Amino acid sequence: MDFAKEFLVPPDGKIKLADIDPGYKGKNESHASAASEIAGHVQCLAELQYRLYAEGKRSLLIVLQGLDAAGKDGVVRHVISGTNPQGVKVACFKQPTHEELAHDFLWRAHRAAPARGEIMIFNRSHYEDVLVVRVHELVTKSVWSKRYDRIREFEKLLLQAGTHIVKFYLHISPDEQLTRFKQRLDDPQRIWKIRESDYTEREHWPAYVEAYQDALRKTSTRRAPWYVIPSNHKWFRDLAISSILVDTLADMKLQIPKPAVDLHAIRLRFHSAKMEQEKNAPRRERGKPRARTLAHRSRKQRGKA
Ligand code: AMP
Ligand code: MG
Repeated sequence: MDFAKEFLVPPDGKIKLADIDPGYKGKNESHASAASEIAGHVQCLAELQYRLYAEGKRSLLIVLQGLDAAGKDGVVRHVISGTNPQGVKVACFKQPTHEELAHDFLWRAHRAAPARGEIMIFNRSHYEDVLVVRVHELVTKSVWSKRYDRIREFEKLLLQAGTHIVKFYLHISPDEQLTRFKQRLDDPQRIWKIRESDYTEREHWPAYVEAYQDALRKTSTRRAPWYVIPSNHKWFRDLAISSILVDTLADMKLQIPKPAVDLHAIRLRFHSAKMEQEKNAPRRERGKPRARTLAHRSRKQRGKA
């Protein structure tokens, strides 16, 4: 299945979330049947991320949005798990701090944007400023309504600097959300995640759907596309997202860079360094593992003391 084609929000297209089934799982029957495919994608992602890091010229920004318990943390855990932490970062966008509020709304997003060679995951993002902010009227309509254009410009700026962008809306049903809230109540490992706001926000579900629809319609562009991922089944969500990420990185045609040094000259230097090393090493230590030598020395020292 071509997940990218299936779940893409067409640029400037009309999208109605009510028409998309959050429980959709295509022809895939169960987690068991998808598990090896997900594992393959995760492995592939690790290899592609290594190339992105080695190339060091471009970057990838992954935006994760969704209502509470939609599974944003789960995607970070399951899909990005195989990558090297040196080249992958996660930024969580919570309620803005005083310092953040004292700046324009894109300031904190720009500061967290990925450096060349990096993958950056936004767990929530600058989109909160046209979602929660709009739903709770934290600023007036005349302010938030201008932000879609600013967001498009901001993302264009990042694109021009070599940052590829992919954005996922994790689509769950109110029923599924309640099931997950119940699981949190019952699971000592997850109980810490519960917030009172989970329930107050839930009351604003229709307003959030409206705000999300507007954001998706106004900011899905050819080069910074939104995908609506049916996410009631966690494994299907992971399958679809990992597949789209592999496609996105593969399309970047990442290449391990050619060495910046003269390999012939470096090989000669290596051999002369090796000969020098062997010449200088005391006869009894040649070929012996270093750890044994050190142990021997410390025994001797102990003897002296
Ligand atoms: P969580 O993702 O569960 O840790 O919750 C973070 C909370 O911060 C969510 O309720 C978000 O809606 C909220 N939040 C994130 N960005 C903003 C923002 N710009 N203004 C107000 N609230 C925000
Ligand atoms: Mg939460």
